[in-house]
Amino acid sequence: MSEGRACRKCFMLYDENVKRCPVCKIPTSETHSGFVGIINPEKSEVAKKIEERSNTKVLSGRYVLNVR
Ligand SMILES: [Zn+2]
Repeated sequence: MSEGRACRKCFMLYDENVKRCPVCKIPTSETHSGFVGIINPEKSEVAKKIEERSNTKVLSGRYVLNVR
């Protein structure tokens, strides 16, 4: 089900070969769920929620809602 690797802190989804988040400098996890594609972060409620949880600016791109 899950593809790629996600960051535990900023929730950004990366390709399988990205073992460490380039933004947060922490290891990524292959266990995650709730894929969302953020196209327009300024207008996205989901982007705001992710920002509140991560304390990191959400950019347009691929994110997940849960990382274990
Ligand atoms: Zn990160």
